[in-house]
Amino acid sequence: MIDTSRRSLLTGAAALGAVLPFAGALSTLGASPAEAALQPVGQQVPGVYRYKVGSIELTAVNDGVRTFPLAEAFVKNAKLDEVNAALEAGFMPKGQVTAQFNPLLLNTGGKLVLIDTGNGPQAGNATVGKLSANLGWAGVKPADVDIVIISHFHGDHINGLRTDDGMLAFPNAEILVPAPEWAFWMDEGEMSRAPEGMKGAFTNVRRVFKDLDSRVRRYEWDKEIAPGITSVNAAGHTPGHTAYVVASGDAKLFVQSDTTNTPVLFVPHPDWQVQYDMDGAKAAETRRKVYDMLAAERMQMVGYHYPFPATGFISKDGAGYRFVPAMWNPAI
Ligand SMILES: [Zn+2]
Repeated sequence: MIDTSRRSLLTGAAALGAVLPFAGALSTLGASPAEAALQPVGQQVPGVYRYKVGSIELTAVNDGVRTFPLAEAFVKNAKLDEVNAALEAGFMPKGQVTAQFNPLLLNTGGKLVLIDTGNGPQAGNATVGKLSANLGWAGVKPADVDIVIISHFHGDHINGLRTDDGMLAFPNAEILVPAPEWAFWMDEGEMSRAPEGMKGAFTNVRRVFKDLDSRVRRYEWDKEIAPGITSVNAAGHTPGHTAYVVASGDAKLFVQSDTTNTPVLFVPHPDWQVQYDMDGAKAAETRRKVYDMLAAERMQMVGYHYPFPATGFISKDGAGYRFVPAMWNPAI
């Protein structure tokens, strides 16, 4: 809507340009000198998106996107040409995988809660590590965060707990971690028995949580661990991998964490196991259980590696499922 007083100020081609969204493409109008001088900005707008579940305000806060070559091992139990066919079916380039990273901020009315912390600070022109900048765009200072909830101990979820000089990124926050996840990664025996390729992950967990024992609260499953946020056993991806139900009044939302990795592959093919699934069979079983529930209850969900703003719905589709993004809404 354009109010009449403003409209009366606009004349000729300028008025048409303001009113018709595609007026610039009409050759009869031409381009004014001012339009011709505009340079492309070359930068993305802030990656924040707000919505509500009952009285809880949620903000999807994007940490960035990573694109990497598709390796034979990326899907443990599918052939490369099957994976490429799935990428093509999802209108993604073949031979590469793109994963997004989307921590979730919740204002529960009393507590500011962040679920997962992204890849942490990065040097140079990295495409990830955008969490703190995007929190800034959302008007949130690191010191404002009361509680950080961690879903599991992979680096893309915990590394944002530290700043680039090793300080606590959220200096006032209590840090809540799944008790079974802590028990697994902090166990010296598990570390010594781990395959060589996993040793780095154990070392990283120890780096991030060093000297934090007094700040960390270990939580069990099926407990309300923060106002309106209940922990759910979603083990398989990691031994203590956790999802959440966010509930307020009659409204509910399921935060699936890494129950699936990038949806273009694993939503239509829920039995495919991403290489990061530490117990692939159990992860696939959890995926089917969760997605059957989401489809039956028509419950809105959030997926950490889903396309920003990373929220929508799951329906059954043949032998797999289909993701339907939630509609962008300018009102909260
Ligand atoms: Zn992840």
